[in-house]
Amino acid sequence: MKIGELLKSEFSISFEFFPPKSPEGERELFETIKELEALKPTFVSVTYGAGGSTRDRTRRIAYRIHTETKLTVMAHLTCIAHSKEELLEILQDYKNIGIENILALRGDMPKGDFQAPKGACKYAVELVRFIRENFDNFFSVGVASYPEKHPESPNMEWEIRFFKEKVLAGADFSITQMFFDNSYYYRFVERCHKEGINIPIIPGIMPITNFSQIKKFASMCGATIPQSLVETLEPYAEDPEETTKRGVEFAIRQCEDLIANGVPGLHFYTLNKSRATLLIYQAIKHLIPPKVLSRLC
Ligand code: FAD
Repeated sequence: MKIGELLKSEFSISFEFFPPKSPEGERELFETIKELEALKPTFVSVTYGAGGSTRDRTRRIAYRIHTETKLTVMAHLTCIAHSKEELLEILQDYKNIGIENILALRGDMPKGDFQAPKGACKYAVELVRFIRENFDNFFSVGVASYPEKHPESPNMEWEIRFFKEKVLAGADFSITQMFFDNSYYYRFVERCHKEGINIPIIPGIMPITNFSQIKKFASMCGATIPQSLVETLEPYAEDPEETTKRGVEFAIRQCEDLIANGVPGLHFYTLNKSRATLLIYQAIKHLIPPKVLSRLC
């Protein structure tokens, strides 16, 4: 199923996984997937290494989900380290195996003396165009968005200008970077609407189960952790149970507020674990609008 189509009629719940390195990690991931499949999410997605490092593993996990479960799957694809020939090969392969959803990304710039292959797509917008030019509407295409701006963007005008380019190039929907203060998301969506951007912008939710890990992620991607959340979690940084309990409580309140404000869906960064996401889902499921057109996005 194409995610762009599904989003027209239903509130979307989705889960993101990364492709594990070991057979043991893969076995555990499929346990997680089995538990989360019971929630009947709208789709699940599988991340991709920026340098193309997970090319085979992303394909393998996406294919297994596609063939071994009833879930709709989206493969992430980063373009910065691939030639156009490689991108064509990867996309043609996804088409051949019946995977219809791609999250089109540039990927983080590899560190050091990185030289992109000749003719490579330097920004995600070029990948969106490339997909549309070569595959027309076979794929539903999603893109990333950044309510607190991408670290490389000098300001919000810049952020929205280039986000809009991705939408004009043919993106059907977007998933945001994680954020912990909903006001950033609301302001971002409002500015997008003023610029005529009307695709669904699905908030990305990161359940906190390990505070030092999240602090590291947040500083890398420029997500603000509100002082009140720091004060809630810092004293329990060495206590995974208490961190999970408080992190889950925070995410429940965050999701309740987002749903009350008419978001088109919720995308959970699961880090391949089901427990926190299951707890959040159980607490908010009575609020999820069944098959409605979203009001905000
Ligand atoms: P772009 O949209 O290309 O933007 C990157 C920067 O360039 C922005 O500052 C933008 O404003 C600027 N820009 C865009 N176009 C132009 C232009 N024409 N001229 C000048 N500046 C321009 N990374 C992975 O490696 N694998 C994943 O699977 C993955 N999944 C993700 C999923 C989500 C939901 C999100 C939010 C991020 C994900 N990322 C992933 C991280 C992402 O790859 C990085 O944030 C990366 O640095 C930017 O990718 P992008 O597609 O947003 O880039």
